[in-house]
Amino acid sequence: MVRESGGEDTPLYCEAAMPAPLDKTFTYSLPETLRRRVRPGCRILAPFGGRMPAGVVLATHSVKPDYGTRAVLRLLDEEPALTPELIDLGRWIADYYCAPIGEVFKAMLPPSAEMRSAKMVSLTLAGADTAARFLHANEADDPHVLILRALGRRPLTLPYLKTKYGKAETALRSLEKRGLVKIEAQIKKRGPARARGPRTAVQAGALDAPPAKTAEFPRIRLNDAQQAAFYAVSESLHAKKFRSFLLQGVTGSGKTEVYLRAIEECLAIGRSALLLVPEIVLTPGVAAQFFARFGDNAAILHSAFTDAQRTEQWRRIRGGRTRVAIGTRSGVFAPLADLGLVIVDEEHESGYKQEEEPRYHGRDIAVVRAQAACATVVLGSATPSLESRRNVDTGKYTMLRLPDRIRSRPLPAVTVVDMRREFVESRQNKLFSRALANAVDERLQTGEQAMILLNRRGFSVYALCRSCGYRVECENCSVTLTFHKREQRLLCHYCGFAAPPPKTCPACQGEYIHFQGSGSEKVEEQLRNDFPRARIARLDRDAVRGRGQYEAILNGFREGGYDLLVGTQMIAKGHDIPNVTLVGVVNTDIGLGVPDFRAAERTFQLLTQVAGRAGRGDKPGQVILQTMNPEHYAVELAARQDYDAFYKRESSFRRSLRYPPFAVLAAMIVRSRKPEEALALSGKLARHLSPLPAGVRMMGPAAAPVVKLRTEYRYQFLLKSRSRKDIAAILKRAREFASAQGRLQTALVIDVDPMSLL
Ligand code: ADP
Ligand code: ZN
Repeated sequence: MVRESGGEDTPLYCEAAMPAPLDKTFTYSLPETLRRRVRPGCRILAPFGGRMPAGVVLATHSVKPDYGTRAVLRLLDEEPALTPELIDLGRWIADYYCAPIGEVFKAMLPPSAEMRSAKMVSLTLAGADTAARFLHANEADDPHVLILRALGRRPLTLPYLKTKYGKAETALRSLEKRGLVKIEAQIKKRGPARARGPRTAVQAGALDAPPAKTAEFPRIRLNDAQQAAFYAVSESLHAKKFRSFLLQGVTGSGKTEVYLRAIEECLAIGRSALLLVPEIVLTPGVAAQFFARFGDNAAILHSAFTDAQRTEQWRRIRGGRTRVAIGTRSGVFAPLADLGLVIVDEEHESGYKQEEEPRYHGRDIAVVRAQAACATVVLGSATPSLESRRNVDTGKYTMLRLPDRIRSRPLPAVTVVDMRREFVESRQNKLFSRALANAVDERLQTGEQAMILLNRRGFSVYALCRSCGYRVECENCSVTLTFHKREQRLLCHYCGFAAPPPKTCPACQGEYIHFQGSGSEKVEEQLRNDFPRARIARLDRDAVRGRGQYEAILNGFREGGYDLLVGTQMIAKGHDIPNVTLVGVVNTDIGLGVPDFRAAERTFQLLTQVAGRAGRGDKPGQVILQTMNPEHYAVELAARQDYDAFYKRESSFRRSLRYPPFAVLAAMIVRSRKPEEALALSGKLARHLSPLPAGVRMMGPAAAPVVKLRTEYRYQFLLKSRSRKDIAAILKRAREFASAQGRLQTALVIDVDPMSLL
């Protein structure tokens, strides 16, 4: 390689991470005007496969590559968008999660407005005709012809055409005048619909109002346990060394207040602070609380914001105008300088794991980031994940406990109702046991409120033909469709496929289609039947369209507008509603049947969390768990709210079967639209990977629990080992294999530390 001279220290090239599912960076040359301005961490626009996407510069240099390079077209940031610390973090993520580096850096930045405003050029109908005539033309250097031919393959961005073809601008103007091409602002289509509907209440309220000034906040006196936790964290903040705490506090023990004090202390020391919360918890109300406490000093990063709002909040952080960032999963990339404190609330929540590329775990990244920044980490939960709790045992984390509820309020009394006995005794197959029905009735008399949980959406679980046993399945996935009564349709909860409920059986034309099982919609209907005078609201993904509605329903309930709130796990998270004195769980067993080694842990967490909603005011709470498995340890220990016993029990199970946190786990999925191809490829991959190093166990390839998902057939491998290095080496070989097969982008999914095995 030759070193070109571009003047002292003036780089001639840059290495950029481009948004593509590839493991490498790309080298671009820097035009004269950009050489001194492009720095690591800056975003650029550069030609890439016929498009002109934004990439992130990771390094600059003057080492001439031995292949031709294309030039950077535009610089998007005069100040680097990413700090050197975040660039290192991104590289670490790509390596640790075996994730494409370009996708990682894309995920770390807010959507680039510039990129989307790039104009698109496409052919008109007349243009397509003309282009077809020129397909074999010889006028090969006429820009009009070249451009028409290129556009014949697909629409291209204006900046791309301008760099690629000389005099493109003049040529395009004349083509446009002749009606052969159209040039328009590109409206980029969104990915799968998320909570992004119309203006949400978060946007309408919390952000538009000028942030309140701080200080009128009523000071709460910390109790002894809070004080002790705060001291420990504060000491660590002052030491400015990396240290991790697990704050385990029962529901209603006042963890939030400890977080807030710690953030204030961190600011007082002159460093910045990051707070991560699960998406569902970051409501407009919660956002408003933070603004009230930290005023202009807080920024909120939330995926429900519009792109422009996210970019604006992000810029305030990057520019150093705010030193507190509150965000959901991707908030872990908030470009705070001099980070002193990172808090992850409800650290056990699986929502911190991103289930698309790059498949990172926000909580784990938070710890890694804090370590690099010599910051203090606080992970808080009433039901810590096995992983985090285990880190206390091994000495990595320090345990802080809040063992009691605020003002020594008792934890609610829990009754377990054995639904098998209930049937024998009552001779009725009802949704609600006599105990639960009575308890609800009592609340309606006293004017107290109740929450009823059934962690499954829809009305019934599946549609079954009584004559031939046929179950209606999704066209795209190997799962049964769920009946949604209000909308009168069958819905796939995996891909969104919808169909009208059949009148007769599609297999045997039988007339008896029966809807089996119960979802939250049926619970609501049954409650309306059984308690006609009760005012009832439902909270689940079907009832809630957009975050505004979520908070509207919750506020309505909080203010006493409803007596009963029915819902899925959505009702279990974080709310503090003093008048709720009863929590009923209609079917405790739903999560236990899931083929996942975390089934017991998830059930325990959900039951403990939802039970924790009861009795947070002056009146004690009552919880009723309906189950067919009263002796299952997850049910029994959740009923006793005994986390320590659960941890012990679950640990011994995980240890004996070598599951996390006692081993490292990685999943690989080989997928294809053709089942035989997926099967063949996974067989080939298995052969390619063997023999495995000693100490690594590979399960599979086997059909994934949901073998067909969104029209693709999936075969799964699970890798287990004590050695992360060994697993990483195998995953790398798997990627190389897929790459050599030309199938890297489509066929192989790698998930390191997977949270979902479906
Ligand atoms: P957790 O997150 O641990 O479930 P919260 O942080 O929601 O608990 O606290 C429960 C309630 O107690 C909140 O309404 C909070 O304002 C209140 N609280 C917290 N700390 C104190 C305290 N030291 N004295 C009085 N009330 C407190
Ligand atoms: Zn489906």
